[in-house]
Amino acid sequence: MANPFDGYAKKKDFLICIDSDGCAIDSMDIKHIRCFGPCMVKEWGLEEHSEEILERWNEINLYSMTRGINRFKGLAAILEEINEKITPIEDLDSLLTWLEDADELSNAAVEKAADEKGSICLKKALNWSIAVNRAISELPEKDVRPFDGVLEKITALHGFCDVAIVSSANYEAVKEEWTRFGLIGHVDIVLAQNAGSKKSCIEKLLTFGYDRDKVMMTGDAPGDMDAAKKNGVFYYPILVKHEAESWSNIMDAAEHLKEGTFAGEYQESLIEKFVNNLS
Ligand SMILES: [Mg+2]
Repeated sequence: MANPFDGYAKKKDFLICIDSDGCAIDSMDIKHIRCFGPCMVKEWGLEEHSEEILERWNEINLYSMTRGINRFKGLAAILEEINEKITPIEDLDSLLTWLEDADELSNAAVEKAADEKGSICLKKALNWSIAVNRAISELPEKDVRPFDGVLEKITALHGFCDVAIVSSANYEAVKEEWTRFGLIGHVDIVLAQNAGSKKSCIEKLLTFGYDRDKVMMTGDAPGDMDAAKKNGVFYYPILVKHEAESWSNIMDAAEHLKEGTFAGEYQESLIEKFVNNLS
């Protein structure tokens, strides 16, 4: 694929970067609640304890400061808990060691490691990850939608800001969803998995000539906040379980951005609410 920044040019003084999954599009809960957790229970045959395990899965991946972590890290975290408190997980150390050493946390990488080591746990992790992808692809289209107010607010923001999607999800999936919901016309650039980490995407966008204090990252997970912080740009959180409310307040953030009053008290209060909401 061509360089995703090819042909991009700054048009306005302000830039708003927006994450997709769990931020603009209501797709995180459904993927974890219907796909990631249940596929894990099934692959490891943990049906007997499924209620408490699924509750912990959702807590780790959706409702705490580990929200949005890599799927294999989330898997290792819950398997360690299960191993400690519920039932032994065979060959768990192979997964933990792989996570420490791997350069890349992908299906291809876990498959290679499973074959090389003949590891049961890595093989199960691969089967699970493949089953998750299949389950996600089979989710009814109608069940994945933008949060209330997203189209209206992005349209308004685009009136005075350049708008960039900064997502770590699959490029085609992001493009397809934003197109289907009529959002894509208010977007100047789509930066997804293929464009690199969120931190490096924001870093690259800054090289097009934006002042850091005119740039805001909008996201729902600690990783989004880190990407903003590391680039010295502002962070506007979309709070899990309060997404529509967060979107309805986003024009306040836009005003602070325009007026140059985002730094300090306002930014700190947003971050405090975000962290408290995940604790
Ligand atoms: Mg997200």
